[in-house]
Amino acid sequence: MVAVTAAPTAQPRADVPSLDVLAELVADGDVVVLSGAGLSTDSGIPDYRGTSGSLRRHTPMTFQTFTRDPRGRHRYWARSFVGWRQIRAARPNAGHHAVGELQAAGLVGGVITQNVDGLHQAGGARDVVELHGGLDRTVCLGCGDVAGRAELDERLQEANPRFGPRVDEVNPDGDAELPEEVLDSFVMVDCVACGGGPLKPDVVFFGETVPRDRVDRCFALVDGAGSLLVLGSSLTVMSGYRFVLRASKQGIPVAIVNVGPTRGDGKADHRVDAPLGVVLPELARRLAG
Ligand SMILES: [Zn+2]
Repeated sequence: MVAVTAAPTAQPRADVPSLDVLAELVADGDVVVLSGAGLSTDSGIPDYRGTSGSLRRHTPMTFQTFTRDPRGRHRYWARSFVGWRQIRAARPNAGHHAVGELQAAGLVGGVITQNVDGLHQAGGARDVVELHGGLDRTVCLGCGDVAGRAELDERLQEANPRFGPRVDEVNPDGDAELPEEVLDSFVMVDCVACGGGPLKPDVVFFGETVPRDRVDRCFALVDGAGSLLVLGSSLTVMSGYRFVLRASKQGIPVAIVNVGPTRGDGKADHRVDAPLGVVLPELARRLAG
C-alpha cells in the first residue's frame, strides 16, 4: 500500500513541480506507455527477461544456448519449473492498476511492455503489446504451436511428482540452485501438437530478435502518440530504447519515470526520478479519479 496523501512532508519538494508537469502531459491524452522491469518489482518479480523463471544472477539464457544445447535447455526448464510458482503467484501492484485506470479514463492509448509477466493485463490494461513475449505461453521449436504454460505445468507436475529443490536451496526471490543430480532427475516433456518438438517459453531471449510485425506495431503506436511515457526501464536494451529514439525524432514528447538514471535521459523532455508505486497512483488520483 502506498499512502501518497498521508505523507506530504516525506515528498521531496523538487518532486512536486515535476509531477505537475508530468500530470499535464498525461492529461493531454494519447499517451503510449513503454514499461520495463521496474514496474513489476513491487510485485516481487525480478527482471526475468531471458532467464524467465530462472536465475538472473547467473548468465542469462541466450537463444543460441537454448536452441543448440539440449543440456542448457534442460537446465532452463528444471529451474523454470521451480520459478513458475513465483510468477504464477505474483499479483499486479498499484502501478499496474494506475496504468489501467489512466487507460480506462481515456488518457493512455497503447501499452508496450518489455515485461513477460502478464501483470499489466492482470492490472486492467487493454491492448498490451508484449514486446518480449509472455511467460504464460510456450512455443514449439519444431512446429510453432503456441500453448498455455499452465497446461505445460500440469504435464510437468505429472512427470515430476517428487521434483523440487529443498527449501534451503530456494532463494527469497524464487530462484533455486539445482545441483547436477537434481537436474538429472528432472523429466522434461515435449510438444503435444507434433509429438516431440522441443518447447520454448514464448519469450524473446537475449540474442533473439523481436518479430518484425510486433516491432512495426509498436512503431505505429509511437508514431500516433501524443507522448511516450517510459515506466521503470533503464532502456539499456535497444529493443525498447529504439521507441524513445523514434519518438524523439518525430518530435513526440518523451517522459521517463524511473528510479535512477536511464539511457534515454538525454532524449527525455521530462524526467521523474521517483518510485512508480508513488508516482502512478498519484497521477491516477489526479487524472482518473
Ligand atoms: Zn510441435
